[in-house]
Amino acid sequence: MTATILDGRALAKTLREELRADTQAFIQNNGIAPSLAVVKIAGDPASDRYTRTIRKGCEEIGITFTEHTLPPETTQAMLEETISALSFDRTIHGILLHLPLPPGLDSARAIAQIDPTKDVDGVHPYNAGLLAMGRPGLIPNTPAGGMELLLRNNIPLKGQHATVVGRSVVVGKPMALLLLNEHATVTIAHSRTKDLAAVVRGADIVVAATGKPGLITGDMIKPGAVVVDFGVNVLEDGRVVGDVDFDSVVRVASAITPVPGGTGPVTNVMLLRNVLRAAQQQMARHHH
Ligand code: NDP
Repeated sequence: MTATILDGRALAKTLREELRADTQAFIQNNGIAPSLAVVKIAGDPASDRYTRTIRKGCEEIGITFTEHTLPPETTQAMLEETISALSFDRTIHGILLHLPLPPGLDSARAIAQIDPTKDVDGVHPYNAGLLAMGRPGLIPNTPAGGMELLLRNNIPLKGQHATVVGRSVVVGKPMALLLLNEHATVTIAHSRTKDLAAVVRGADIVVAATGKPGLITGDMIKPGAVVVDFGVNVLEDGRVVGDVDFDSVVRVASAITPVPGGTGPVTNVMLLRNVLRAAQQQMARHHH
């Protein structure tokens, strides 16, 4: 058997088209565009690249994009003031704080200044709490994209056993909670898990979010399982690979997200969708 490829680029294109239509409708109804403010500290080329990608995505869809790049010598107080001002600014619907922050800046205290209704990265404890309670508000983009890949490809989740390998706050843990909300039976594995192979082998759906290239191999996969790979690992030779050993797993699984071209492309669209959702909710609230 060779697994079906869950094509993230194709899905991202479809989602962008839907989102552009929904954004144009929002603009028609409200007379303003949804708006995103990105806050970052200058001096990180990776963060500059990410910002350009987000700006381009916003422009394509019709979201207003503003960038607040603070100097490298920014203090905690200056950072918090910037975020707090954006939280109070009614013309801004979404706030994205680039993480990780440089050493010396406290991300938890900075995140606490984000108005939870503008938290388009889903990193505020309020939104994490809502997700844990089973009534998600704004959810983190990476796991949101993974769920979109599963749901839009009609992968059955209810009653299925899902094993999520990785328990980070931005990927593994929210993915496990989203699967639980869809009535999967969820196991969370991590670096202290005894016999990872056995835990993965029991799963109908395997999710990898570890940052360890090739950790999940074909011999660990139950025949016919569905595999979602969040890993983005750049090897010494420049190749980008996932946490899943694609060549061995593709022969055992029934469906698999490739790297690149799987979960990655969908993630950025989920951010833009969160901006539109945040704007819709804020407009609805202002009208009451
Ligand atoms: P973190 O480093 O924050 O978390 C990694 C998790 O994997 C931890 O929970 C860790 O366990 C677990 N882990 C590490 N090694 C093993 C192992 N040998 N066996 C089992 N579990 C292990 O990473 P992130 O969650 O931020 O990112 C995970 C991956 O996803 C990375 O490759 C990252 O590049 C990628 N990523 C992809 C995105 C996308 O859009 N597709 C977006 C964001 C990230 P413990 O908690 O015990 O330390």
